[in-house]
Amino acid sequence: MANKPKIYIIDVTNRDGVQTSRICLSKLEKTMMNLYLNEMGIFQSEFGFPLTRHETNYLNANLELVKKGVLSPIRLGGWLRATQGDVRAAFKLVPNLKHLNLSISTSDQMITHKFKGKLNHQSVIKEMTQAVKEARKLGAESIGVNAEDASRTRMDYLIEFSRAAKEAGAHRVRYCDTLGCDTPFTIYERIKRLCQGVKIPAEIHCHNDLGLVVANSIAGAKAACDCGYDAYINTCINGMGERAGNADLVSVILAIKYGSGMQDYRLDERVGLKMAYKIGKYASYAFGVPIPINQPGLGANAFAHESGIHADGALKDRRNYELYDFEELGRGEPEIVETGRKITAGEYSGIKGFRNVYEKLEVVFRDDQEATQILELVRYANVHNQKPLVDDELKFIAKYPDIARKIFQMNP
Ligand SMILES: [Zn+2]
Repeated sequence: MANKPKIYIIDVTNRDGVQTSRICLSKLEKTMMNLYLNEMGIFQSEFGFPLTRHETNYLNANLELVKKGVLSPIRLGGWLRATQGDVRAAFKLVPNLKHLNLSISTSDQMITHKFKGKLNHQSVIKEMTQAVKEARKLGAESIGVNAEDASRTRMDYLIEFSRAAKEAGAHRVRYCDTLGCDTPFTIYERIKRLCQGVKIPAEIHCHNDLGLVVANSIAGAKAACDCGYDAYINTCINGMGERAGNADLVSVILAIKYGSGMQDYRLDERVGLKMAYKIGKYASYAFGVPIPINQPGLGANAFAHESGIHADGALKDRRNYELYDFEELGRGEPEIVETGRKITAGEYSGIKGFRNVYEKLEVVFRDDQEATQILELVRYANVHNQKPLVDDELKFIAKYPDIARKIFQMNP
């Protein structure tokens, strides 16, 4: 039992989620996501792009939160192209980076039609191994190598590529179903061949272009576990992500816990669903994308019954029509909404209104000077977020003003 493989979650909301068209997060919102994911017991948050200049202060500030033990035990992983030059530059900008995913395309389609002669199959492997070795040299403690478009990559080449990654010092291979063309049947077979051929844990990164994203993620993870290797499923909160999205975080956890035939598979025992409702609601607010009423677990209808037979059955015994309990997902508490006067704190707030907001949160300031400093930070936070701050954001700023100040700084 002790050596039985496990399924871990690597959430990529702060990378794949934010690189998606039309949606974005402020650096404060990305920080809140990391904090919530940590509270949820998620193994790793892919927290951003170490080579993107506007991320630098945010990334370094969040790594400071790791050092302070605030973001712990979660790992924060950066996403980079798998080239030696990018790895070097990344460690210059973000010196305390410890966890990385290094990405390069592996399919014939992309090697031919994206690299256009700049790279071929052999030089792709060379670039990648040089990048992995460089990252290890510069202090990376864990490295995943991403095979972009793995699902359309010739299997023999994918195995050759992955063996080279392992020999160079990578800890996992990320199998990317970049276009979302896999089915549960194909991904199961391919991950099995990959794990057996390379003897390495697999990361499963799926997209939802065919509506199969959760099913594919589970099938891929099952294949790795069946071969005796750990699986790391990539998720996004509320299924955000490029085009039709990535695997929804909560759905993936529910599928592992309650899916038929999944009882013998071990989910990382740190993962809990108590934060599920909160993180889903926060992501919806931060992205400005409503949660569909039929979203698994979190939608308004996920525990609603109306038709005569269903309502009667659910009232007699919830197990008649509910697979899992709303309490497990942190639902069931009434939400209090202010319907009278409401003072909010924003970019043009003054000290009186600001004090009123924090008194309601039971946050007390040492003196006027401290209050004025926090007010200034809250104003900046609002400039970044462009919507009223939530209580947890206000509390975070008051508790970690130095970190908040760094997060708000950008110098183009
Ligand atoms: Zn992706």
